[in-house]
Amino acid sequence: MSYSASIDFDKLRAAMVTGQLISRNISDSKVLETFRRVPRHEFVPEDLRPSAYNDYPLPIGENQTISQPYMVALMTESLKLKGAGRVLEVGTGSGYQAAILGEMSGEVYSVERFKELADRASRVLSSLGYKNIHIKVGDGTLGWSEFAPYDGIVVTAGAPAIPESLVKQLKDGGRLVIPVDNGVFGQTLKSVERTGRTTRTSDICACKFVPLVGKEGWPE
Ligand code: SAH
Repeated sequence: MSYSASIDFDKLRAAMVTGQLISRNISDSKVLETFRRVPRHEFVPEDLRPSAYNDYPLPIGENQTISQPYMVALMTESLKLKGAGRVLEVGTGSGYQAAILGEMSGEVYSVERFKELADRASRVLSSLGYKNIHIKVGDGTLGWSEFAPYDGIVVTAGAPAIPESLVKQLKDGGRLVIPVDNGVFGQTLKSVERTGRTTRTSDICACKFVPLVGKEGWPE
């Protein structure tokens, strides 16, 4: 029996929702319900499973991380999804946030730069039975125009500025949630809401993500 096999992940997950999400004012019942269900430990490397529900990010290979549970919840809540829509994620990483979005929307399109991460995330997601999550390898700063426009777009890596291509792929009334370098002390998580041809940007909080590398992101 492996070490993880003796751990009660359901109990750890319930404690995470209460101690890390509800306590910090995540209040959308659909978000909380989804976090109670999705097995985060399946998305982290085997030896880190005992820490899967802890209050911090974890390494997933290729120098990348699975975000802290609270940050995933905050970004998801900020999208204000209304059900059966289409969502674009830039930065598949482990696939955990894609799974959360898959439970809360119709179809999820997720782009990842590293093939190895994209392949691993696809395997985990199909082993868990998700059929509405579509992953491709590529530069997500350009979006995924084939399936645009999107009700929500979430970028899970820090950008130098808001990529124009992503704003263009937002549906009228849709939201883009993205960490952007603030030029002073780090990154600010921002929400960009599109109404017709205009956009309204608001700040959510300070944050720290790995860099968004691509044509409308940071150079290699
Ligand atoms: N959402 C992920 C978090 C992954 S960390 C999760 O739930 O685990 C951010 C990811 O963004 C990394 O895997 C990184 O490789 C990827 N990334 C960075 N720049 C990118 C780009 N231009 N296009 C697609 N993916 C990118």
